[in-house]
Amino acid sequence: MELSKFHTLTLVGVLLFFIPFAYGWGIDGHLIVCKLAQQRLSNAAANAVSQLLPEYANNDLGSVCSWADRVKFRYHWSSPLHYIDTPDNLCTYQYKRDCKDEDGIQDRCVAGAINNYTTQLLTYSGNSDSSSQYNLTEALLFLSHFMGDIHQPLHVGFTSDRGANTIDVHWYRRKEVLHHVWDNTIIETEEKRFYDSNVDEMIDALQQNLTTVWSEQAKGWEACSKTVCPDQYASEGIKAACDWAYKGVDEDSVLEDDYFLSRRAVVNLRLVQGGVRLAATLNRIFG
Ligand SMILES: [Zn+2]
Repeated sequence: MELSKFHTLTLVGVLLFFIPFAYGWGIDGHLIVCKLAQQRLSNAAANAVSQLLPEYANNDLGSVCSWADRVKFRYHWSSPLHYIDTPDNLCTYQYKRDCKDEDGIQDRCVAGAINNYTTQLLTYSGNSDSSSQYNLTEALLFLSHFMGDIHQPLHVGFTSDRGANTIDVHWYRRKEVLHHVWDNTIIETEEKRFYDSNVDEMIDALQQNLTTVWSEQAKGWEACSKTVCPDQYASEGIKAACDWAYKGVDEDSVLEDDYFLSRRAVVNLRLVQGGVRLAATLNRIFG
């Protein structure tokens, strides 16, 4: 009896662990952002990143880009750091007004977290036995993840629907939650339909566009008068959420080709902007 109860609990625990809960881009979205970013690092930043990455990552930032989602159960305090709730239907973001958790504690949102981990990483001194008071490995993994999250339009969403987590839709014939459509499903559908279900092919195609059609725009995305500019990314995010993610969608809407084909460009743009800005930020941090 006790044993079977234990087994049931273990099974529930395991299932909860593996269900891709609505916590930011899914694994592939974060992988894409971090892979694109690592290719654009300066020598100094590439060295610092390779020093700070845990050994099991094999110097591959992409492989640990979803670490922040996996530790959410251990680090309960980190859950509100993945998103921002803004006032319903206003389609604007203001740091002072919106960057707080459900208890109203200021700075506890994804923009505040990006500022915080950037500040921590600025204490990196270049020595492997660093004298920093912070865990800079965790700071790097959090920053890399949150730079992805802030570019997912519904991570800067409306308060009452929790970033479209309460909006049920149909993705073609399947039941989905609108937030999850933007975290995972658009990317997965794109991989399946255009890249033979191979995420590396999708990364190569985005990378290719980054050096051609997007190369001029990319300079504008990198620009920031400070070390990092999360308020700008969040303002763009809520605008994209209103103009594309929420637009034309109600409870039980059926989303098919019309929605997929017009929104995939927005998803691609946000993934690429996330990668370019993560690299530019790490390059500014590590000089
Ligand atoms: Zn997240």
